[in-house]
Amino acid sequence: MILSRELLFLVLFGLSVQLLSAQETDPPGQCGTVAYNQWLEKQDPGYASSRKSVQEKIRDYLRRMNVQKEDSNQVIQIPVIVHILWNTAEQNIPDEQVWSQIFALNEDFRRLNADTVNTPVMFKPVAADSRIEFCLARRLPDNSGPSNGILRIWTDKAEFGLDNKVKSAYHGGSAAWDRDRYLNIWVCKLTANYLGYSQYPGGPDSTDGVVIDYRCFGRVGTLNPHYNKGRTATHEIGHWLDLYHIWGDDFGSCDGSDYVDDTPNAADANYYCPTHPRITNCNATGEMFMNYMDYCDDHCFNIYTAGQAQRMRAAIFTVRTSLLSSDGCDDYIGMQELEKDNHVTLYPNPASDYIHLTFSKPLNKAVFIVSDMTGRTCLLGQATNVTHQALDVSHLNDGLYFLSVRSGSSSVTLKLLLQR
Ligand SMILES: [Zn+2]
Repeated sequence: MILSRELLFLVLFGLSVQLLSAQETDPPGQCGTVAYNQWLEKQDPGYASSRKSVQEKIRDYLRRMNVQKEDSNQVIQIPVIVHILWNTAEQNIPDEQVWSQIFALNEDFRRLNADTVNTPVMFKPVAADSRIEFCLARRLPDNSGPSNGILRIWTDKAEFGLDNKVKSAYHGGSAAWDRDRYLNIWVCKLTANYLGYSQYPGGPDSTDGVVIDYRCFGRVGTLNPHYNKGRTATHEIGHWLDLYHIWGDDFGSCDGSDYVDDTPNAADANYYCPTHPRITNCNATGEMFMNYMDYCDDHCFNIYTAGQAQRMRAAIFTVRTSLLSSDGCDDYIGMQELEKDNHVTLYPNPASDYIHLTFSKPLNKAVFIVSDMTGRTCLLGQATNVTHQALDVSHLNDGLYFLSVRSGSSSVTLKLLLQR
């Protein structure tokens, strides 16, 4: 008996040691953007010169900006369409996982992420809110109907590479929505240890967007424990808005640049989660390994700088301007008033912790969206075949909100006051 208990202890102890070391020695994931862009240059003879022209436009804009300070403080909202390409059921990730990704993006890009407290004191002065937000598409590209911003497409492909096939229906993928109005995000199983890849501004319209592996997309679901805070998308969308890796992709030399002044020089990619200050031959005071454009684990990241925010906004104001007038996140004009055939009651209002919705008829496939006065989505919920729904709003600050209830092509928006 004792022997078997000892054996059990040894087996368990051995297992836990093995698990620990497995975590620390897991081969790290990789961003495919550099390899993809090299491939694209060979595929598309015009791509290199198009990139050059984009770079010049952004450089000139930033120069002008530094003199004239003409960037408005406007918050930019980018409509997103998520294409989920699934071959096995596990790859067909739930809506909640997609929503958690949009939340994560809005926190990271607006510096509302809880882990800003981990930004080292020496980097806090350059940390920035980029005033860029993301919303799931609410209408189809041809305005023929509403959309929830998520497409689910079964594919016979076991996995995809860095060759754009995921963006082509002919090759088992899904065609991009109009890149002038939407950011296309493809979620699929990627080959090897690639976490994602992105197309810089200036590439072909039909392949514009980012691709993310389903095991590192969002914050909930079956995720790789190293990449479970939605920051692969934060990183890849950084590339999509013309940010480079923070070490300048120079294979460890100190000469490469990310063309941003307030990110300190770095030798090479950092992995897992180093201890600050990380001193290298390119940086005697500490590398900014917690920057989203490095390669660390998700929990290690917490900062975009003012220079990076300015560069991303410059990309939007020069070569992605059409997104500024996109109607992708406006409600579909043909939406029917839900109230016409289903009476909706909201109580209590004002509310403090929970709100309740009742419907005179069962509501099929309902989505509940609470947004604040700036239009930022604060809460999402869904239910099917309900006549009553409770929503927990206890985490939201006091103030006025809009509660939108959608079902099929019907919707109603109610005002909600939170008061404690
Ligand atoms: Zn990258």
